[in-house]
Amino acid sequence: MGEESIFLKIAKGEIPAKIVHQDDEVVAFRDISPQAPVHILVIPRRVIVRIDAAGPGDGDLLGKLLLVAREVARREGIDKTGYRLVINNGPDAGEAVPHLHVHVLGGRKMAWPPG
Ligand code: AMP
Repeated sequence: MGEESIFLKIAKGEIPAKIVHQDDEVVAFRDISPQAPVHILVIPRRVIVRIDAAGPGDGDLLGKLLLVAREVARREGIDKTGYRLVINNGPDAGEAVPHLHVHVLGGRKMAWPPG
């Protein structure tokens, strides 16, 4: 067994985080190094290492991540001004934590294409 990632420890309540949503399947918490006025990470409690590792049986959970991300954005008041959902997969994308997470970013104007 590999070492548990920091996000699994957050999901288990073993290390602290500023949690904004949790239920039996999903946890959402504020990013420790926010890149926008609102920067929240939405993760499944069950480990899916990255989106590339998701299987056909993960569809409901993946859908739930997006619906929770939308709900969090609404509650943060960025649904009208706009927000971005980001999943980084692998080294070129800058994936740093091997536990699937959806970034919810908003509260400022963002550029496209991303850097
Ligand atoms: P990624 O590059 O997509 O893997 O994103 C990892 C994100 O996790 C980064 O935005 C980090 O700032 C964030 N992060 C790392 N450790 C923590 C932590 N303990 N609590 C909250 N966010 C974290």
